[in-house]
Amino acid sequence: MERYVYLFEEAVGLTRFELGGKGYGLVEMTSVGLPVPPGMVIVTEACREYYRNNGRVPERVLEEVKVKLEQLSAKVGKRLGDPENPLIVSVRSGAPYSMPGMMDTILNVGLNDLIVERLAEKTGNRRWAYDAYRRLLQMFGRIVMGVPGEKFEEVLRRYKEREGVKHDHELSVEALRSIVKEFKQIIREHTGKEFPQDPWMQIEMAIEAVFRSWNNPRAIEYRRYYKISDDLGTAVNIQMMVFGNTGPNSGTGVGFTRDPSTGEKRLYGEYLPNAQGEDVVAGIRTPLPLEKVDPKIYEQLKEVAEKLERHFRDMQDFEFTVEDGKLYLLQTRNGKRTAQAAVKIAVDMIREGLITVEEALMRVSPTDLNQLLHRRLDPKAKVNPIAKGLNASPGVATGKVVFRVEDAVEMGKAGKKVILVRPETTPDDIKGIIAAQGVLTSRGGMTSHAAVVTRGMGKPAVVGCEEITIDLEKEQFVTASGVVVKKGDVITIDGSTGYVMLGEVPTIEPEMTEELKVLLKWADERRRLGVRANADTPEAARKAREFGAEGIGLCRTERMFNAPDRLPIVREMIMATTDEERRAALEKLYPMQLQDFKEIFRAMKGLPVTVRLLDLPLHEFLPPAEELIKEIYEMKMRGASEKEIEEKLRVLRKVEALREHNPMIGHRGCRLAITHPEIYRMQVRAILRAAIEVLEEEGETAEVQIMVPQTAFAKELEIIRKLVEETAEEVFAETGKRIPFKFGTMIETPRAALTASEIAKVADFFSFGTNDLTQTTLAFSRDDAEFKFLQPYLEKGILKENPFEVLDREGVGRLVKIGTAEGKAANPKLEVGICGEHGGEPNSIMFFHEAGLDYVSCSPYRIPIARLAAAQAAIKEKVEVAITV
Ligand code: PEP
Ligand code: MG
Repeated sequence: MERYVYLFEEAVGLTRFELGGKGYGLVEMTSVGLPVPPGMVIVTEACREYYRNNGRVPERVLEEVKVKLEQLSAKVGKRLGDPENPLIVSVRSGAPYSMPGMMDTILNVGLNDLIVERLAEKTGNRRWAYDAYRRLLQMFGRIVMGVPGEKFEEVLRRYKEREGVKHDHELSVEALRSIVKEFKQIIREHTGKEFPQDPWMQIEMAIEAVFRSWNNPRAIEYRRYYKISDDLGTAVNIQMMVFGNTGPNSGTGVGFTRDPSTGEKRLYGEYLPNAQGEDVVAGIRTPLPLEKVDPKIYEQLKEVAEKLERHFRDMQDFEFTVEDGKLYLLQTRNGKRTAQAAVKIAVDMIREGLITVEEALMRVSPTDLNQLLHRRLDPKAKVNPIAKGLNASPGVATGKVVFRVEDAVEMGKAGKKVILVRPETTPDDIKGIIAAQGVLTSRGGMTSHAAVVTRGMGKPAVVGCEEITIDLEKEQFVTASGVVVKKGDVITIDGSTGYVMLGEVPTIEPEMTEELKVLLKWADERRRLGVRANADTPEAARKAREFGAEGIGLCRTERMFNAPDRLPIVREMIMATTDEERRAALEKLYPMQLQDFKEIFRAMKGLPVTVRLLDLPLHEFLPPAEELIKEIYEMKMRGASEKEIEEKLRVLRKVEALREHNPMIGHRGCRLAITHPEIYRMQVRAILRAAIEVLEEEGETAEVQIMVPQTAFAKELEIIRKLVEETAEEVFAETGKRIPFKFGTMIETPRAALTASEIAKVADFFSFGTNDLTQTTLAFSRDDAEFKFLQPYLEKGILKENPFEVLDREGVGRLVKIGTAEGKAANPKLEVGICGEHGGEPNSIMFFHEAGLDYVSCSPYRIPIARLAAAQAAIKEKVEVAITV
C-alpha cells in the first residue's frame, strides 16, 4: 500500500512532484547532512485524495502523521502538548512548482495557554513566548478559522500606538499578553468557536487548511497564468520550529549562492536579527546585508552555499534561521536570476566542472538573451508608463517628441535626440525615421512599415499604440488617461515591452559579454541548423556577423528602394506608361542597386547571401489618392497651370488604376515579374555584376543566391529561371568572368508547399516565408488579425498563441514538413531554410530542426537566440533518442 507521510530522511529518491518543491529541498538537504530541523512531508497524492474525498483529509494520512510525530518526538526529545518540553512545529504548503505566497503556512503550531506560560517561565524569555503565541493565534485565526486579517492588524496597531512604538517586536510583554487575550476573543466572536487548545487538533486543522489553500482564488489565478496544472496538488511539510526571534543571537535571512543579478560567484543575501521568517517577507524592517551576520555564522553559510551548489548543481536561493547562535536551513530552491547572471553562471559552472556543456546550454532561456542584446531600461529605475502599444522593435529610446518628418530631420541634424510620433509611417517618412532615436505610431501591426523598417535598422519602435490620440495640427498627442504630450516634450519608448514613458528613463547598454560569446561558441558546436540573418543593409549585415550569422538568408530588395533618394525613381518605374519610361527609371536604379549589393557582398565575404528579387507592395510606394485629390484641389484654387494640373491628374489616374483590393494577395512578387520582366533583369544584372566586381577588387566575394518571391507554380519559376540565366550569360559575356550562383524560391503559398516536388526540380534552394505562408494558410491578413480578432481568438482558446509569432504547427508547420520532405526527395541537393519571422522564435526553431530544415534566418539581433535555440533542439533530440533507445 502507498504511503502518504515520510520523515525527511526517509524520502530520499522521491521526486519534486511527490514532495513538492519545498519538501524536495528539505529532504535533499537532510540527506547531505545540512542542518535542517527535523520534520516530515505529506506527499501531494494526499492532497489529490483530499479533493477526491470531497474536501476531507483521509483518515490514513492523519494516522501516518501521528506515527511520524512519535518518531520525531523520540528523535528530538520533545513531545507535542508536553508543557515541560513541548514540540512546536510549522505546517507549510509546498507545490511541485514554486507559487510564492499563493498558498498558506502556519507557524508555531503546538502552543496553547498552558504551554506558553511554562515556556515563558522556563526560558525566562517571556516576550518571545507571548510573541510566538500571538503569531500563532493570528495566523491560525486568519488562515484556518477564516477570521479577516484586518481584525488582528487593528489590535496590533492600537497597542503600538498606545506604547508609542513602531514595530511589533518592540511591544512590551504586558501588551503581548493582552493582545493574546484579545486575539482569542476575536476568534470566539467571529467563529463562535474557541481557538483549539489541543495541539493535535491544531495540526489536523492546519493540514486541512493547507490542502484547502491549493484552491484559493489567487492560487488558481496564478496557475492559470503560469499554465500549471490544477491536478498536481500541494504537499504539506510539518517541521520542528526553530526560532529566529529569541534574542540578539538569533535571526533569519535569505541567501543566494551567487549574485542573482550579475551571476558573480559570491555569497549574497540579507539578514534580519531577532526576527521570524515572515518579518523578512513582510518587509517591515529593512534587513542587513549578509556580511553583517556574525562572522562564525557567515563562514558556515559559505560552506553551506558550497555544499548546496555541489549537490543541486545550480545556483540556490535558500532561507535560514539562527536560533541562539545555531544555524538551521529551512528551504532551498534554484534561484531566479537575470539573463546576464544566467549566462555567467552557466559558463562558470562548466568551468568549475559542476555541470556539462549540454546542461549549461539547456539552462539559459533563449528569449532571455533578448534582454542582453538591446539597450534596456535600468532595472533599478522607477518607470511610470503613460501608454502601451506593440513591442515592434526592441530597445529603449529617449528623445523630444516630433510629429513632422522635417522636424525630425532638422533637429536630428542639430544633434538633438527625437522620437518620431506618427499615426503610421510610409516610405516618405524614412528620412525622419533615420534621424529619430525611435518611432511611436498609433496604428499598424508588427509588420507595418514602421515596424519592419525600424527592426531592420535596429531602432526601437512602439507601434499600434491605440491608446494615444495624435493631433497632427496641434502637434500633440493625448493618452487614454488624459496625459497631453506636446511637441518638444521628452518621452522614452521601450520597444521590448511596448511601454511609453514621460521623460528620460535611465538605460543600460547592451553587451555581448565574454561569457555569452563562449556559451554561443559551444552552442555552435552542437547545433545542426545553420543560422543566417535577414538583412538588407551593410550595417545590418555587419551587425549580423558580429552576432554570429553564417550568411544572409534574406535580403529584401524592396527595402533598398525605400531610401528617400530612390522613392521618386521607384514611383517613376511603377507609374511608367511605356516600356521606354520604365527602362529609363530602371537605368537610374541600376547603379544604386549595384552599389548596395557590392557593400553587402563585401560585408559577407565567403558566406552565402540570398538576395530576394523585388516583392513590391505597390500601395506602399505610391502617394495616397486622397492626398493627390487634395493637392489637385489646392492647385486649382491657386490657379496652377493646366499642364501642371494635368500632370497630377495623370498620377492620380495611375494610382487609381493600380489600386488593389487585396494588396497582400495582389500583383506582387513573381507575378509582377511575369508581367514586367525588365525589373528582375535589372536586379539580376546588378547582383551578378556586384559579385564579380567585389571578387576582382577583394579576391573574394559572397556566395550568391538569387531568390524569387511568392511562387505558386513551377511554371512561374521556369520562366523566371530562364530570364535569370539569360541575363547571367549576358553579364558573363560582358565581363568575361563567370561566377557560380544558386537559384531558388521562397515558399510562401500553400500551393508551392504542396507541389514542392515539381518546384524543387527548378530550384536549388527553398526558403519558407512563414510570414506570408501563415497569412495564406490561415487566410488571415496579419494587420487585420492582430488588431481586430486575434485577442478574442486567444481568449476563447481557438488559438493558443499568436500564429505570426509562434508557428502554427498543425497548419503552416505541416506545409513546411511536406514541402521540405517532398522537395528534398525530388532534388536531393535542395537546400531548405526559413526566413519568416518564426526563424528567430525558439519554439518554432525546435520545430524547424525536427522538420529537417538546413537553416533558419532571422533579424540580426535574434541571431544569438537562434544559435542557442538550435543547439537546445539538437541536445534535446540526442537525449530523447538516448532515452527511447
Ligand atoms: C515571408 O513572407 O515570410 C517573408 C519573409 O517575406 P516578407 O515578410 O517580406 O513578406
Ligand atoms: Mg513574404
